[in-house]
Amino acid sequence: MPTTKNQGQPANRIGYGWDSHEFKRGIPLKIGGIILPHPKGLGGHSDGDVLLHAITDALLGAIAAPDIGSLFPPSDAKWKGADSVVFLREALKRVRAAGYRLVNVDSTLVLAAPKIGPHATAIRTRLSELLGLTPDCIGLRAKTPKGMWTDNAAIAHVVVLLGTKAGSSATPAKSGVKNPE
Ligand SMILES: [Zn+2]
Repeated sequence: MPTTKNQGQPANRIGYGWDSHEFKRGIPLKIGGIILPHPKGLGGHSDGDVLLHAITDALLGAIAAPDIGSLFPPSDAKWKGADSVVFLREALKRVRAAGYRLVNVDSTLVLAAPKIGPHATAIRTRLSELLGLTPDCIGLRAKTPKGMWTDNAAIAHVVVLLGTKAGSSATPAKSGVKNPE
């Protein structure tokens, strides 16, 4: 019956997300919810925010939900140029509905340029706002794609850890009791 929904759910879940986008001239570069100064941006689905897409997929994967491409099909004109924050918010909503909260995020960007180091603090600050985490729970590093022939692409790898919401960890939630967040 519906009241036993949380019974036996794992205390933790991990999720993994991966995404890549191609650089194109004449569009803004958005990574992690902020615009970075660069002559090229990332083309494709929505605003091309490769990092937010990988985080979204990691969150959805952790709860075995359909992936970002299934929920927001690139073929649907509705999502053309869309702010990827919309996708992230939907994933976070589904995580909460499944009875979980986000514990931490770790991410690696792989791209030849621009250098992420000077922008890392700004990206982590923005991610902490979007994810409801303190910056010390958000790992972010960037690597250059040596020997990979992907200099015209940005790639993001992300893992997330989910925990059950406070107060609902060991025992099933009582019927009718809802967690506020
Ligand atoms: Zn993407």
